[in-house]
Amino acid sequence: MTHTPENLTIAGRRAAILEELAEAAKAGGREGADVRLVAVSKVQPEPRIEEALAAGQRVFGENRVQEAQTRWTARRAQYADLELRLIGPLQTNKAEDAVALFDVIETLDREKLARAILKAMDKTGRSPRLYVQVNTGEEPQKAGVIPKDVPAFVEEMRALMPQGIEGLMCIPPVEEPASLHFALLAKLARETGLSHLSMGMSADYALAARLGATSVRVGSGLFGEREG
Ligand SMILES: *Cc1c(COP(=O)(O)O)cnc(C)c1O
Repeated sequence: MTHTPENLTIAGRRAAILEELAEAAKAGGREGADVRLVAVSKVQPEPRIEEALAAGQRVFGENRVQEAQTRWTARRAQYADLELRLIGPLQTNKAEDAVALFDVIETLDREKLARAILKAMDKTGRSPRLYVQVNTGEEPQKAGVIPKDVPAFVEEMRALMPQGIEGLMCIPPVEEPASLHFALLAKLARETGLSHLSMGMSADYALAARLGATSVRVGSGLFGEREG
C-alpha cells in the first residue's frame, strides 16, 4: 500500500506520487524510466480537475465516453498537450465517439471492437494508440482477453490495426496480491514484444512501477475520494 498524506493539495500529492514512481522504477532496475501518471478523473468534481491541470497534469483517464466528452471536449482547445485515455469498457456503438475524443484506448479486447474502431478511424481520420486489456485473474465478470489467448490476439490485432498495439493493460482481482498479476502482465508483454504496461492504481502504483509499469492509473490517491 502506498500512503500519500491526506492534507496535501492535489499539486502536493501529484509531486509526491511522481517522486514515488521514480524511486520505484529505480528500485526495479529502471532508473530514469518514465512512468506516466494517468490521472483518473472519472466522477471527480471540476475544481479538482482544474487544480490538477494547474499543477501541470496533462494525461487523464476516464472510463465512460459520455462523461469524458462533457468534461474534455471544450478543454481540448485550451490544452494542446492534453492526452486522454479511455480505461473503461467500450461498446461498439460508442466506438466513433471514443475514437473522436481519446488519444489512447486501453481496453481493446475483442475483434468486433477492433473492427468498430477501424471504421471509426476511417470516418474521423483519427488513430488512437491501442492497449489490449488482459483479464489476468480470468474473472468471469471482467472484460479482457484471458492470458493464454493474448499472444494470438495481439498478433491478430497487429495484422488488423494500422497503428499496431502499444501495450497491455490489466485490472487485478481485488482479493489477490496484485504483484502476481503485474508480473504476469509483464511476462505476456515480453512474450509478445510489447514495451508498454498500464498497471497499478491508487493502492499499488509504486509496486506496479517497480514491476515494470510504464503508466499507472491513479484516481482517489491523487484527487481524493470520489464523491459520485
Ligand atoms: C477508477 C479506475 C482507476 C483508478 O482507481 P483508484 O483506486 O481511484 O486509483 C484505475 N483504473 C481503472 C480501470 C479504473 O476504472
